[in-house]
Amino acid sequence: MECPRCSQDLVQGSYEGVEVHKCPQCDGVLASQRRLIPLMTQLTKSLGQHVDLDQPIPSVPDVPGNVHCPVCRQQMENFGYMGTNTIMLDRCAKDWVVWIDPAELGAMAVLFARTNKRTDARHQFYQQELRDMTRRVDRLLVARALASGFASGAL
Ligand SMILES: [Zn+2]
Ligand SMILES: [Zn+2]
Repeated sequence: MECPRCSQDLVQGSYEGVEVHKCPQCDGVLASQRRLIPLMTQLTKSLGQHVDLDQPIPSVPDVPGNVHCPVCRQQMENFGYMGTNTIMLDRCAKDWVVWIDPAELGAMAVLFARTNKRTDARHQFYQQELRDMTRRVDRLLVARALASGFASGAL
C-alpha cells in the first residue's frame, strides 16, 4: 500500500503491539478503526514517558488535499476525532481504516489521555482546552515520543 500523501510504500509495524502501517517519509499512520482506542492507549503510555500531559499539545493544521484510501483508492471522508472539529481525520467506511497525519497522531494521543484523566468535565471544556493547548507546544518532543514508540516489522 502507498502513502496517500507522498506515495511511499507504507511500512508495517506496531506501537506496543498495536498493528499499524506507517509512512517512512511523512510519518503518517494508517490504522484500522477498531484499533484506534488500543492505539491511543499505547501511544498515551509512550507519550507519558516523554511529554508532560499537562503541557500544551500540537496544533493540528489541516493538511490540504484529498486523501485516498490506500486499500481501495476511493476518496476518504473527513471526520472529527472524539467529536471535536479540531482534529480532522480521514476514514474509509468500506475498509474501516483511518488515515492519521503525524501532527494529528500526537494531538489525538494527548487529547485521549487528558479526556480520560478528567472524564467528569463537559465536552465543551475540552474543545476550549484543546484550543488553549494548541497555542504553546513542543512538537519535537511529541514527534520523538511517537517515533520511539514505533517498531517496524510484522507482528
Ligand atoms: Zn507519506
Ligand atoms: Zn477503502
